[in-house]
Amino acid sequence: MSSLWWIRRDIRLHDNLTLQAALAKQPILPIYILDPHLLTTTPTRKKAFLFNSLRALDLDLRKRGSYLVVRKGKPDEVLPQMMMEARAEVIFAEEDFTPYARNRDQKIGKILPLQLIQGQLVHHPISILKSNGTPYTVFTPFSKNWKALLPHDLNPAPPPKRLQPPPAGILTKTLPVMQDTPLFPTGIEEARQRVKQFTSIPHPEFGVRIFRYGEFRDRLDLPGTSELSPYLHFGMISLREAVHYARLAMRETTDPTHRKGAETWLNELIWREFYIHILFHFPFVRHESFRSKFNQIRWNHDLSGFEAWKVGETGYPVVDAAMRQMSAIGWMHNRARMIVASFLVKHLLIDWRWGERWFMDNLLDGDLAANNGGWQWTAGTGTDAAPYFRIFNPVLQSKKFDPNGDYIRRWVPELAHLNAALIHTPWEVGNKVPGYPAPIIDHRFARERALAAYKEV
Ligand code: FAD
Repeated sequence: MSSLWWIRRDIRLHDNLTLQAALAKQPILPIYILDPHLLTTTPTRKKAFLFNSLRALDLDLRKRGSYLVVRKGKPDEVLPQMMMEARAEVIFAEEDFTPYARNRDQKIGKILPLQLIQGQLVHHPISILKSNGTPYTVFTPFSKNWKALLPHDLNPAPPPKRLQPPPAGILTKTLPVMQDTPLFPTGIEEARQRVKQFTSIPHPEFGVRIFRYGEFRDRLDLPGTSELSPYLHFGMISLREAVHYARLAMRETTDPTHRKGAETWLNELIWREFYIHILFHFPFVRHESFRSKFNQIRWNHDLSGFEAWKVGETGYPVVDAAMRQMSAIGWMHNRARMIVASFLVKHLLIDWRWGERWFMDNLLDGDLAANNGGWQWTAGTGTDAAPYFRIFNPVLQSKKFDPNGDYIRRWVPELAHLNAALIHTPWEVGNKVPGYPAPIIDHRFARERALAAYKEV
């Protein structure tokens, strides 16, 4: 008996419960299907990240006596063909919880022997419910239950040393060689290095960064966060394994501040899982507000404001730095995401879905559940969201989280010559800074307008 290992968002050999399950049915043919539906909605940079990672996975498989087959087409057409070519009797795949994946897998499961294995999350969405059997919509009780149900050790599975060779000569599509995004090199090894560096290897200036996470996670100018999100999104490292390392760090330290830092990071991993559960139980959130009354907000369809926001020309340095960071490297700091999202929704009063779409088109880690959760949190329309009347003041945020202006200097070179006192408010410089716009909107006016629009509903 042989099997297909249908790889989707589990591009890894470490801690891969699907691969572990398939090992019982060797030889295994590892296959990745380039689904035209997904390809057309994936931005080029993210495609490069994916393709390069698949190439790295193929190398890893070859070292173990196997190889990766890549095919293009609709999964329900490619899979029967592959089963025939590999003489496979069963297909193993990691369960994926997006509405598209669930619908696809349900249809395929009706016509083919598809076995879905849960390995993407620590807990399956139907296993964390309130005592009355309904899903949690508030994070803190969710995370308490999540932690209470955590086994003592997650025991991440090591990669298999050898794999039985699948039938030779099965045709595979050659993936185009594309350039890696600077700062986010692809590959499973890179993901593992990052998690280890963040959780156990001292940084020359900050020590072990997970221990300082509580202190530095919001600082835009410091390497305070793990920068793991693109790797987690594609499953180059499992969430389970990240949780495992967070708990190792918590157990290894005796310093309560360090322990708190590591626990704060663990909580962020739980936020990731929380939003996946929310999308699973309330799939309508992908199109509308979780709190339905906010569907009535009269948004401002301000195309020129939206354009200025997209290209980082709003005249608010921290907003512009963040938007340009995303254009340049396909990633943005979490605090910056909150600042720019708040600016779009509250200052410009633009529908959060416009921003959500732009993020998906530009982020390497663009992830339906986390992105939707983040936007609805900021807009105040989501599950456990910020109250609608919390309107970030971009200048105060900038002064607090980029005190010397180094983040702004890095991404907005027109302002690089300004000192820390002026860089957050360049309109206070006597003459206009050449090449940099004046603020497109007044903070006080924007705040009052947003409050009025929200109060209306
Ligand atoms: P770290 O701080 O090191 O955290 C570790 C991991 O925990 C992250 O990699 C991520 O997987 C998870 N995590 C951290 N914060 C959150 C959070 N608030 N919600 C869910 N998961 C979290 N994250 C995405 O992965 N994809 C997105 O498309 C996305 N869009 C967002 C949009 C908005 C408007 C906001 C406010 C947040 C969004 N986030 C998104 C969450 C968060 O900003 C990123 O996960 C984080 O910045 C990634 O950087 P990091 O890996 O250094 O995170």
